[in-house]
Amino acid sequence: MYQETSFSQLPINELFREEGFSCKCGKHHYSDVKEVSVGHGVLKQLPDMVRKYGGRKPFLIADRNTYHAAGDKAESLLIENGMDFASYIYPQEHLEPDEFAVGQATMNFDKSCDFIVAVGSGTINDISKIIAMVTGLPYIIVGTAPSMDGFASNTSSMISDGVKVTLQSACPVAILADLDIVCHAPKKMLQAGLGDMLAKYISICEWRISNLINGEYYCEEVASLVRRSLRRCIQSVEGLENRDSKAIENVIEGLILSGIAMGFAGISRPASGVEHYFSHIWDMRSLEFQTNSDLHGIQVGIGTVLALKIYSQVVRLKPNKAKAIKYVDQFDKEKHNDFLREFLGSSAENLILLEKKEGKYDKAKHRMRLDIILANWQEILNIINEELPTVDNIIDLLASLDAPVEPSALGFSKEDVRKAFIATKDIRDKYSVSRLLWDLGVLEEVADGLLQF
Ligand SMILES: [Zn+2]
Ligand SMILES: [Zn+2]
Repeated sequence: MYQETSFSQLPINELFREEGFSCKCGKHHYSDVKEVSVGHGVLKQLPDMVRKYGGRKPFLIADRNTYHAAGDKAESLLIENGMDFASYIYPQEHLEPDEFAVGQATMNFDKSCDFIVAVGSGTINDISKIIAMVTGLPYIIVGTAPSMDGFASNTSSMISDGVKVTLQSACPVAILADLDIVCHAPKKMLQAGLGDMLAKYISICEWRISNLINGEYYCEEVASLVRRSLRRCIQSVEGLENRDSKAIENVIEGLILSGIAMGFAGISRPASGVEHYFSHIWDMRSLEFQTNSDLHGIQVGIGTVLALKIYSQVVRLKPNKAKAIKYVDQFDKEKHNDFLREFLGSSAENLILLEKKEGKYDKAKHRMRLDIILANWQEILNIINEELPTVDNIIDLLASLDAPVEPSALGFSKEDVRKAFIATKDIRDKYSVSRLLWDLGVLEEVADGLLQF
């Protein structure tokens, strides 16, 4: 047995120790990531890092933008170091993380390569993690922008058969983020990275609430790790505007840590809650109905503002048992499924299937949850007060980077937002605020309340 160790305050590279961490929560936490290197000029470490993890001939994947930002430099470094390599640069202007893109990289793959190096963030990382999984080769990501928290995770956000899905993929052995490159990322990428980090207020809050109501696994150490990285990002917001490299370093480290925390917990709970479900819905609708969409983190930032508006209504609620039971008795599942089909199109079927497996509408289960909610209402309010900032606080942070805060910035009406919120409870099998409100019989009332903001 390893000794229990508190790890939430350790420097980032000490989190990757071989033996992992035996934790109070009962889990043994470890990460498949072996090394993170963030700093000026760290791209130079690439050839040695490939060798260190057993590679002799890497296959380099980039798109046109990321090739320009760092891919060509990476190639020059490999050449200077006498390292043979092959590369595939996506020719398209707009790269989607779908079957076509995976097919392009696969069909251009050089079988003599024994390592994958991806240069990019977001989509390139998602696709390359799939290629790494399929080929079984070790993988290094060279980050080009602090735009999302998927660097360290072993899942990919993909489009399969026209539907947005999260797929199991491979985790990188190492993450390189050269500040000389990352500091020049487009401003929009910085806004997105901030949005994806601010989401953590909501995710930790909802994780604790679900732990209280459903006894869902929760780890305070992992939550502390996420809070710590979030704090560092918040303190850096001012510097982001001026491209202060220390501020950018804090944000990219925060995003990487958040991915590590997900890996430690073995679930996405520490990093995503209802705000991410808004973003998932906008992605689904964009695929189905060609409505607007934006970068993941931009959507999540707006989702975070919406989530805080919702929680500001939750704290004013007076839960009523009879009302909740009557609401659930009268709930028409078929009518609700029709609403999902109309609002989300073909991707609604996955949600309806999920409910069949999960049975969240089961009346006996509802009664059990309701009793716990009513008995612990003050504790739920305490969690919300402890974890959440005010709406204005978050709007100010986003606005200080000129990031959008209103769904209307993406072209969504208030009615779109109301419907999206009602659908958030069906997106995944996670207990979030929309499920809490359904359990209390006030989901539609609070959704209507969103129309007034
Ligand atoms: Zn733990
Ligand atoms: Zn995210």
